[in-house]
Order: sequence, then C-alpha cells, then structure tokens
Amino acid sequence: MNVLVINCGSSSLKYQFINSDTEEVMAKGLCERIGIDGSQITYQKAGGDKDITVSPMPDHTKAVQLVIDKLTDPVNGVVKSLKEIDAVGHRIVHGGEKFASSVVINDEVIKAIEECNDLAPLHNPANLIGIHACEKLMPGVPMVAVFDTAFHQTMPPKAYLYGLPYEYYEKYKVRRYGFHGTSHDFVSSEAAKFLGKDRKDLKIIVCHLGNGASISAVMNGKSVDTSMGLTPLEGLIMGTRSGDLDPAIITFLSNKLHMPAEGIIDILNKKSGVYGLSRVSSDFRDLEKAYNEGNELAKITLETYSYRVAKYIGSYVAAMNGVDVIAYTAGVGENTSLVRKMVGEYLTYLGTNVDPEKNKIRGEIVVLSDPGSKVTTMIVPTNEELAICRETVRLVK
Ligand code: AMP
Repeated sequence: MNVLVINCGSSSLKYQFINSDTEEVMAKGLCERIGIDGSQITYQKAGGDKDITVSPMPDHTKAVQLVIDKLTDPVNGVVKSLKEIDAVGHRIVHGGEKFASSVVINDEVIKAIEECNDLAPLHNPANLIGIHACEKLMPGVPMVAVFDTAFHQTMPPKAYLYGLPYEYYEKYKVRRYGFHGTSHDFVSSEAAKFLGKDRKDLKIIVCHLGNGASISAVMNGKSVDTSMGLTPLEGLIMGTRSGDLDPAIITFLSNKLHMPAEGIIDILNKKSGVYGLSRVSSDFRDLEKAYNEGNELAKITLETYSYRVAKYIGSYVAAMNGVDVIAYTAGVGENTSLVRKMVGEYLTYLGTNVDPEKNKIRGEIVVLSDPGSKVTTMIVPTNEELAICRETVRLVK
C-alpha cells in the first residue's frame, strides 16, 4: 500500500509518502507559511535533491493539492495518479480520554477530536483542517487518526491524577495525558524486537530527547507513566520549554514582569529550557560546542538538563520496581553522546555498564552496555511517520 502520512500544524504541513510493503519513503517534504505571504513547498524524492517551489497557499486545502501535484508530477513524481494513494495517516496531537488507540476517521471521530480542541487549542484545530483538506481532495480514500496521547491511556490513576480537587478532573478532565506516544510505543517495541525479546516481558524506560522531550515507563508493553502532562510543558527541561516548576512562579513572574499569565506561559514554552538557561541556543550541537569551549552557562545547563533526565529515570525505576532496558531516542537522545554520558553517570548503581567507546555511536540502533549488564542501555532511532504508516495499514487493510 502507498500511505500518505500527514502532520499538520497551524501554518505548516509535513508529509511523507511511504510504500508500506518495503517501508521505503518514496517522497517527503514540507509546506511552510500556509496562509501567510511567501508560502513554499519542499519536495524530496527518494535519492533526489530537495526541490523548493514558492507558491501561494492561502489555506491547507491548497497545500494538500500541491503535495498531490508533486507526488503525481509526470517528471518528478512517484505515482501516476491520485488513485495510487491508498490511504492517509494523520498525526493528531490530543485524543483526550476518548482515544486509547488509532482509529479510522469518520464523522463521529472528527466530532470527538473537535471535542478535544480545548485540551490542545494550538494543535488539534490544525490537525482537523488537514483532515478536512484531504477529505475534500481525496474523497473515498480511507484515513486514520494516530494520536500522540493514545499510548499513554494505559497509565493508572495514580500516575495521571494531579493533587488537585477531584472535581477539576471530573468537570474539566484536568489530568496528565502525556505526548510523543507514537514514538514511545515504536521505540519500546523496536528495542524489544532488536533484543529478540517480547515487549510484554520487559520493563523499558524510553528517553525521547528531542526539541520537545519526554520519558516514559513502559511495563509489559504498556505505558504506566510519562513525564509530560495536561500539555507538553510538564516534565523534562526541553529545547525552549521549562518542564516542571513550582506553579507559584507563574504569579510571581506575572507580578514582577507586569504580564498576564498567558505571557508567562508563552515564556515557559518558547524562551525557557536549555535556550533560556544557557543563553546560547536550543540546539544541543551549539550547546556541546560551547561546553567544549569552556562556556560556564552551557556547562551548568547541560548538568541541569542531564540531572533532570536521570531523576526521571530513577523515579520510573521505582514506578516499575525495576528496569531491564533504557532506550535513548530522538535528535538529542540519538546523537548527543555527551548527554548520554552525563545521565549515565547517575545510573551506574543500576548495573548499566555502558561502554564509553560505544556511547560515542550516533543515530543507529545499538546496545551501548556491555554484554551481561543488569540493565541494557540502547540507542533506538525513532520514526514517527513509519509508526503512523504501520498503524494506518493495520486499520485499513
Ligand atoms: P528532534 O526534535 O528529535 O528533531 O531533535 C532536535 C534536536 O536534536 C536539535 O535541536 C539538536 O539539539 C539535537 N541534535 C543533536 N545532534 C544532532 C544531529 N546530529 N542531528 C540532528 N539533531 C541533533
């Protein structure tokens, strides 16, 4: 089957076109500045160069139309016609408590996703726009919704409840949901597969360290805890997000800066994290360089970041009463050996025995710990698009 995987933001649309039999990415790209002047589409065929076309995109329907035009282009396309697009998989950020797994999209599903809009006001409406655009341009092509939150719906109440009056959970569904679920699910199953084990027999801690970052505890194949909460702001220190903090800081800063709470939340989302702390960058390549040049704030930032990751790992060892596998993934987890080294120094008591030479490896699936270690430490590259493609095929075949 040929599956078009779509990840729609408010002014962008990322896509990959995947042959599900070979799992080869036939083409991929990005539409940017949708609804804004200067829109452009990037298109890259497997083995080909990036092709950038500046073209007006007043809305997402036009963006999807341009993606279809590129895929079916007689010269540079990868299929002859629209008929060769067999299914569409959509990444949906928030499924609330309504979706514990992926679903085939129909009117009822669209309504239920709409009902989750207030939980993710920046993301879900944009995801829905992508669904409507595809419906219009590809009528009759089956579509599947794959939720960032679904994998974590197995968390027990003790993991998802906040210490708030219970009525806020009852009335407004204020609870922890967790995100990056597609990645935590994919990475934990790939890790088990690589080790020749059944995920149902393992306690796995997945460290998804990218620009956004979260950790999960996956016990016997199910997510039992994860670090993000009602929104993706909770948990680890991230590229530009603060992660956990004392909630009283919001009113404290609001008074000091004469700014409403929304403004402070914006700072916590966009100007904090390693970017705000280091005054260097949100990119770990820049941070590592600054660290190696002796930049004191970069050093403190990496120490603070790694300390938080290590503390979460420790808490998930407690949550599962043990751990068999620690898997690093996403941009930082797969590539930044310095972070893995700094985190690893807190974990030797577990019997991790990570080989310092192997720890220098980047971006490939590999076991970093010595054979016979009590805990297996690994790099497992994530691939959320492939995971969405697999889910789509599973449901429409
Ligand atoms: P992600 O959100 O998973 O795409 O991760 C992005 C982050 O990974 C970047 O901001 C970088 O800080 C970090 N990173 C470190 N090394 C690399 C690398 N070689 N390639 C891509 N990302 C990297």
